Amino acid sequence: MTTTPSCIGCGTKIQTIDPKTPGYAPPSSLEKEVVICQRCFKLKNYNELQPVSLTDDDFLRILNSLGNEQGLIVKIVDIFDFNGSWLPGLHRFVGNNPILLIANKVDLLPKSVKKHRVIKWLQQEAKKLGLKPVEVMLVSAHKGTGMVEAMEAIDRLREGKNAYVVGCTNVGKSTFINRIIKQVTGEKEVITTSHFPGTTLDLIEIPLDDNQSLYDTPGIINHHQMAHFLDPSELKWITPKSEIKPKIFQLNAGQTLFLGGLARFDFMQGERSSFTVHISNDLNIHRTKLDNADNLYAEHLGGMLAPPSAQFKDQLPPLVRHEFSIKAGKTDIVFSGLGWITVNQPNVVIAAYAPKGVEIQIRPSLI
Ligand code: GDP
Repeated sequence: MTTTPSCIGCGTKIQTIDPKTPGYAPPSSLEKEVVICQRCFKLKNYNELQPVSLTDDDFLRILNSLGNEQGLIVKIVDIFDFNGSWLPGLHRFVGNNPILLIANKVDLLPKSVKKHRVIKWLQQEAKKLGLKPVEVMLVSAHKGTGMVEAMEAIDRLREGKNAYVVGCTNVGKSTFINRIIKQVTGEKEVITTSHFPGTTLDLIEIPLDDNQSLYDTPGIINHHQMAHFLDPSELKWITPKSEIKPKIFQLNAGQTLFLGGLARFDFMQGERSSFTVHISNDLNIHRTKLDNADNLYAEHLGGMLAPPSAQFKDQLPPLVRHEFSIKAGKTDIVFSGLGWITVNQPNVVIAAYAPKGVEIQIRPSLI
């Protein structure tokens, strides 16, 4: 006599009749030694199911389709790479749909950072780019911080309609969706993929309580992200893994800091001052004389000044110089995708460098 097997994922008795009820697995799966029900299979394989990255054309098509739908747009950005995680043209396509802006990776911010200042800065930056989010929230999809609040906000703001999660690659969108799956699924059959009208792109659909769904859209590649100028094996150097430990440097005018080989900070003019560097704890900071900085970079990029490593240094676009005259109090010089340097005293002139295409901005200090 053969017994009915149980799913190795959830323990439910396997049945092969009704795909809509728990424990369903295709008949062929019964021939295997261990059986997994379709629901667990899909959950387990969510990362493989994810929509692929889009080309710019695909992206425009999908945005167009979103503009024809009614629902909440949930836009995820990386706090450390606001500009690199922006979706160009989003404001033109969202129509009248409300936007909830969620900034991820809040766990990496040092404790000294004031959250309300981060939110204010995000609101201002979004506005500069033509978008007026109805709400801005900070979360850590990785740690779970703020996720219950984010789910509540999604439920409240979607007003009984669908929600569409959009974001560039690397912002943590799949980590975010995985959290939501854990929070909303219970015992329900969750992930299905569906085609969006007018496109051939798969969206991942997570059914919500009221017959509406949350859709995960494909990740969009933003070509200005620092991450795209590095080999994936080198990304670990610049992506902070744990809370950033600020490092303070006392500098005289005429001194330079290199952040690996990816960015440069020249103190041009001003009294001796302190500068606080907020970047991944693993990224090496090298101090030198401004007079010597060009030569040092030419000689040591890929060696002492890494990443990039010697093997990949030729792929890095040349550094571009941006000059800032800082008159007001504490100010951050933000290197998209890397972090920022706080200028602690006013009345200084700074030159900041990043690879061509990567943005550098200034903002009032977050501390
Ligand atoms: P996606 O490309 O947008 O889907 O991004 P992933 O979810 O694959 O995440 C990209 C990287 O960011 C991975 O290395 C994640 O571990 C990391 N990540 C995602 N969410 C968080 C977070 O809340 N905090 C931190 N520190 N890292 C995160």
